[in-house]
Amino acid sequence: MTKGNINVSVENIFPLIKKFLYSDHEIFLRELISNATDATLKLKHLTSIGEAKVEYGNPKIEVKIDKENRMLTITDQGVGMTGEEVEKYINQVAFSGAEEFLEKYKDTAKDSGIIGHFGLGFYSAFMVAEKVEIVTKSYKDEPAVRWICDGSPEFTLEETADKSERGTEIILYIAEDSTEFLEESKIRELLLKYNKFMPVPIKFGTKTH
Ligand code: ADP
Ligand code: MG
Repeated sequence: MTKGNINVSVENIFPLIKKFLYSDHEIFLRELISNATDATLKLKHLTSIGEAKVEYGNPKIEVKIDKENRMLTITDQGVGMTGEEVEKYINQVAFSGAEEFLEKYKDTAKDSGIIGHFGLGFYSAFMVAEKVEIVTKSYKDEPAVRWICDGSPEFTLEETADKSERGTEIILYIAEDSTEFLEESKIRELLLKYNKFMPVPIKFGTKTH
C-alpha cells in the first residue's frame, strides 16, 4: 500500500473546486463518462493495432445508484490503469493541472466550459462526492489497484484482489448536499442531456437491496 500526499500547494483544493471553480456541479457526470469513453476507445485502438492482446468484445459503460450506501458508480471496460498510471495520471498530472488552473483563472473561473481542457475533469467528482474510490485493472497483466481520496490532498493507493475484469470503476460517495444525484430521474436526465450520442453504449440501472 502506498500512502502519500497529493502534490499540491493549495492546502485543500477540493473546497475551492467545489465552491468557486465549477458553477455547474452536474457536469461531473459528463466528465466521468467522457473519461470512461476515452478509456474504451483507447482499448479499441490498441486492440486494432495488436498492441493490446485482449478481446475487445462489446464494451459498455455502466452507471449505477446504490441509494442506501449513497454510492454512484461509473464502470467501464476500457484500458484501465496500473498502479503506476494512477500515480501519474491521477495524482500528479491532474493536480498540477488543477494548480495551474487555479492560478490562471481564479478570477474568472466561474466559466465551467473550461473544465476538461485542463485535466481537471476527474476531480470534478469532488463537487458532489465526499469520498471517491477508483478500482481499476489495466489491460496489461498487472494487479488491480484501489485509490481512495476523501477530499483532502491525502490519498491511499493499494493493490486489490477485488477486481478481476479489465477496466475502471469510479465510486462516488455522494455528499449530503448533493443527494439529488442519487435520484434515478436526475441521473437519467443528465445522461440524456450530455451523453445522447456516445460511441460506447451506456447502461443505467438502480441497484436496490
Ligand atoms: P483528461 O481526461 O482531460 O486527461 P481527467 O482529469 O479527466 O483529464 O483524467 C486524467 C487522466 O486519468 C486521463 O487522461 C486518463 O489517463 C486517466 N483516467 C481517468 N479516468 C479513467 C478511466 N475511466 N479509465 C482509464 N483512465 C482514466
Ligand atoms: Mg477527462
